Amino acid sequence: MRRQVLLNPGPACTSAKVKEAVIEFGDVCPREEETGILMRAISDKVKGHLTSVPKDYEAVLFTSSGTGALEAILSSLPVKEQKVLNIVNGEYGKRIHEILDTYKIPVVDIDFENGEIDLAVVKEYINSGFYSHVTVVHCETTTGILNDVKTIAKMAKEKNLTVVVDAMSSAFAYPIDMANDGIDFLACSSNKLAQGLPGIGIVVARKDLIQNCNARSYYFSLKDQVNYFSKTNQMRFTPAVQMLASLDTALDELGEEGIENRLKRYSQLNQLIRIKMKSLGFKPVVKLKSNSAVITAYYEPTGFDFNKFHNYLKERGFIVYPGKMADGKSFRIANIGNLKIVEINDFLLHVSEYMKNAN
Ligand SMILES: *Cc1c(COP(=O)(O)O)cnc(C)c1O
Repeated sequence: MRRQVLLNPGPACTSAKVKEAVIEFGDVCPREEETGILMRAISDKVKGHLTSVPKDYEAVLFTSSGTGALEAILSSLPVKEQKVLNIVNGEYGKRIHEILDTYKIPVVDIDFENGEIDLAVVKEYINSGFYSHVTVVHCETTTGILNDVKTIAKMAKEKNLTVVVDAMSSAFAYPIDMANDGIDFLACSSNKLAQGLPGIGIVVARKDLIQNCNARSYYFSLKDQVNYFSKTNQMRFTPAVQMLASLDTALDELGEEGIENRLKRYSQLNQLIRIKMKSLGFKPVVKLKSNSAVITAYYEPTGFDFNKFHNYLKERGFIVYPGKMADGKSFRIANIGNLKIVEINDFLLHVSEYMKNAN
């Protein structure tokens, strides 16, 4: 089986078992009982990881990438007189704006560019009374900043705002308890920190709020997807059945490792990368204390040729990722997936070697 060490921010490296699950599940009719049972099992496992009160929540599956899950939430929000307050500090925050805009849902951004969110400013906006919903990205994959979603949700809840979180790059490694943290809608996917294959978009949302939704999309109607499933145990449209089987295996592996240990492992890998990259003269975009442990963005040193760097490493089995920041040149190294310390050490040796020869 092919193994490249993926240091891009998902799809991440997966175990052989996760890949084998696709073949083992084999040819299955999605309308047969076993697919419904499988989807129910996945929903229960997802909820088990993301909320302490699973009975109040639904985990809703779509055949899509993560953005599909996000779109299912955003296109369903019952926005009336008030607007959506969108907190932006990177490209994924901008994407939320673009999706809302597509559905002509009124949205106001507070844009912190690629910097940290100023909570005092957010509070002022929340308290203004102009907004019914607040949207925010948990780990902003553009820079690697980990946003203080708990504090934002708490401020929003005090004013009765509905809280929507893009947890694509945080769910399944960072501890999240939607019930306790005050998160009403959350989007994540199969292929990042869940360490599954790409293809399943996941929404976790409060049951009561789903029934208040206002569907503007046909395929991505949250309410219809939930109601159809509870009636029939089936997805409305053809699910990626084998990917579901694979996701189920990935969630079992997460259960075995545990969220806490997964974050510990990622933190260890991230620290190795940070220490070595620093010694080689690379400057991180984000200060250590606000950076997540899953991805680090670096400024390109003068004269640095990212493509050459990328190709050199690819030839040796490692994939690094270009930057997403609009201003200034940066690139990114993620450390999610079923990566091992030896693989990261190996990677860093190659980076050292490259830098030696480049200078
Ligand atoms: C990866 C990611 C997404 C979704 O990406 P897809 O390519 O649609 O799976 C959304 N938001 C954040 C923060 C992400 O990191």
